Amino acid sequence: EPVPLIAGNWKMNGLASSAAEAKAIAEGIGGTRARVAVCPPAILTHRISEALADSPVIVGGQDAHWDDAGAFTGDISAEMLADAGAKLVILGHSERRQGYRETDEVVRRKVLAALRAGLEPLVCVGETLEEHDAGQAHAVVTRQVRGSLPPELKGTPFAIGYEPVWAIGTGRTPTCGQIEQIHRAIRDTLVDIFGEDGASVPILYGGSVKPSNAAEILHTAEVGGALVGGASLKADEFLEIVRAL
Ligand code: 13P
Repeated sequence: EPVPLIAGNWKMNGLASSAAEAKAIAEGIGGTRARVAVCPPAILTHRISEALADSPVIVGGQDAHWDDAGAFTGDISAEMLADAGAKLVILGHSERRQGYRETDEVVRRKVLAALRAGLEPLVCVGETLEEHDAGQAHAVVTRQVRGSLPPELKGTPFAIGYEPVWAIGTGRTPTCGQIEQIHRAIRDTLVDIFGEDGASVPILYGGSVKPSNAAEILHTAEVGGALVGGASLKADEFLEIVRAL
């Protein structure tokens, strides 16, 4: 049984004052058996890490470059995130895949950069609405898993986020049965690639997770946690989700 991971992805939200929100999360998580992470915008990594220094809440990045350093104006390296206190990094989020044309190959190179920096990758996959409607969800997601995960991940901690694109920020979610089916397909793929190690990788569900549906989703077979966007911005809502586990 993988240790569950519940991660808040703040996306492009938050200011210096959000450190108070992070502190409120740390104060409220109580005795959860999940690992809890917050992923603020990169510019807040250091500040939020300091705010959470004495707590079990982990700080993560939302993206990192595939190279370690160099002439990449505007980019952030995995090492910079680690240096600022991050322990994990979201990679291959659909908003990166769609908005910045990140391919599986790019995501795979970013995963390798995260490993070099000692960051735990949280690799996101998920089908678009068009692919969903065409019955291609399984094929797309398993292709993304195979293409985005380098063999070097074997033996190191990492997590998968399954986020159907049509469920992100829409209030629409798949049925728990649909989530379970895709998560099983991801699990089978992980075991196929990594052998026994693939069984202990947490597979998080993401897409319109909120306090009212969290318990049902988190208690679905093969769901190893949640990747929460909008509902992670307010400490009380995020904490309700953590407590739903
Ligand atoms: P929402 O929870 O706002 O739908 O976002 C999900 C997501 O993309 C988390 O990474």
